[in-house]
Amino acid sequence: MMLSDVMEDYLKAIYQLQQGTDDRIKTSAIAEELDVTSPTVTSMLEKLEERGLVDREKYRGVTLSEEGETVALEVVRHHRLLESYLTEHLDYDWSEVHEEADRLEHHISEDFEARVAAALDEPTVDPHGSPIPSADLEPPERRAGESIAGFEEGDVVVVEEVADRDPEILSYLADHGIEPGVELEILEVAPFGMVTARSSAHDEPVSIPETVAHHVRVARPVEAEG
Ligand SMILES: [Zn+2]
Repeated sequence: MMLSDVMEDYLKAIYQLQQGTDDRIKTSAIAEELDVTSPTVTSMLEKLEERGLVDREKYRGVTLSEEGETVALEVVRHHRLLESYLTEHLDYDWSEVHEEADRLEHHISEDFEARVAAALDEPTVDPHGSPIPSADLEPPERRAGESIAGFEEGDVVVVEEVADRDPEILSYLADHGIEPGVELEILEVAPFGMVTARSSAHDEPVSIPETVAHHVRVARPVEAEG
């Protein structure tokens, strides 16, 4: 099925919004995600529905059809493989790769995708900790990751994933040793949401304002058995 880049972007956006909820996705949420107006979203959703890629219910929002989800997973797989390749082999910083991947994700062939995956030894997560859908496009397991803002002083958490979009925030996080896999000890939670934490990858404690905290998904460390 030949779809425009914009159509693929919509399917990807709906897929990503669905990761955080079991509810249908509202037009307004898609508009915000893609930075377009609600009427623009509505007319695109009509086109996607005609092609059987989404399921709409008046006033209740939209979900991806099975076919729509497959397209979204394909685009997400391209995006995350490209981000991995750019950081691993082309010396890009993790703050720079999202924009490149956003453009390239629509244009690579299946053969190119397979070669990138092979060159990286079939990775399962991208540089930001996001799961890369497998080649057969099975949906990756949903993560339980929570915002760091929900934890308390003394808690130790593991960084699972950081949002890939904001280069400035990504640079700040990298400068303070916050990346997927590191442990963070919460040292202080101030009344207005400022979290102070210490990363296992950095000597100095780091201040994490609420706006930044929402970009970092964390989980409690898995207890060793026995
Ligand atoms: Zn990205």
